[in-house]
Amino acid sequence: MWVLVVRDLHVHFVLENMTVKAVDGVSFHVSEGEALALIGESGSGKSVLGMTILRLLPENVRVNGKILFNGSNLLDLSEEGLREIRGKEIAWVPQNPATSLNPVMKVGIQVAEPMEIHLRIDRKSAVQRVANLLKFFDINPPEKRVNEYPHQYSGGMKQRALVAMGTSTKPKLIIADEPTKGIDMTKKVSIVELFRKIKKNELSLLLITHDLPFAEKLADRIAVMYCGQIVEVCNVKKFFKSPLHPYSKALLNSLPSRGLKPIKGNPPSMVNPPKGCKFHPRCEYMSGRCLEEPQMFEIDGNLVRCWLYD
Ligand code: SF4
Repeated sequence: MWVLVVRDLHVHFVLENMTVKAVDGVSFHVSEGEALALIGESGSGKSVLGMTILRLLPENVRVNGKILFNGSNLLDLSEEGLREIRGKEIAWVPQNPATSLNPVMKVGIQVAEPMEIHLRIDRKSAVQRVANLLKFFDINPPEKRVNEYPHQYSGGMKQRALVAMGTSTKPKLIIADEPTKGIDMTKKVSIVELFRKIKKNELSLLLITHDLPFAEKLADRIAVMYCGQIVEVCNVKKFFKSPLHPYSKALLNSLPSRGLKPIKGNPPSMVNPPKGCKFHPRCEYMSGRCLEEPQMFEIDGNLVRCWLYD
């Protein structure tokens, strides 16, 4: 069963002299208990896409399409209706734990807040539940940690506290934006363990990340974004063994473990993207046909936006 369905989503930032097409006709779904990793280079539109789902974007943004959750289009909900879902049914784990916690509030009170608001639990009981959550996420000793301030937590502990906050209301879906950004290798192992624990609880995950090894360890499927579009959606094993799209192949070849071969050229402009296939100026397989926009082709249950598969 699908928890989240995104259909033909367009997100454009309208500025004085230009329009930035950050998301350009994106469709995908996340199933119950599934982890979908949205990957791509910085600036490919993946974080904007995540923020659009919870309407966390500024007002100069123009959004079209459908974001279906629990049978409702989130784009049609009133601010009040959305508040019922945001933090309760869908949790957002932001990318910078250092700045996402209020420095002058005890962590226990901050983590308890969604339970007070959405589950109507009094503060004392909510903080008691927080201690259990901190213990679950290896923040020890929990009874002491609930009464500490963010500066008394390490970076990894802040990240885990934010995840504890996100899971506190038992949401159906967690969207995590670059959960390993700025985290060193040793701490990454604990972040992987953290998300594995969440997965065991059968929550659905949308992981927005440029960290391919992290995605490989956690995701069931990979969706690849390039210049505001999804160019491939693939089963994780198949993706890391033999990806379909030339951009996916180039991304994997740029990993240190696979030879550190940089992708030639630069990511295209989102104001004036290339005509046809947006990857064509960088693609070694480019032919005349690639000046037409490719459709999505289905290959053995996986999807790829490339004329090579016609
Ligand atoms: Fe390369 Fe053409 Fe496929 Fe685009 S459509 S990825 S340019 S082969």
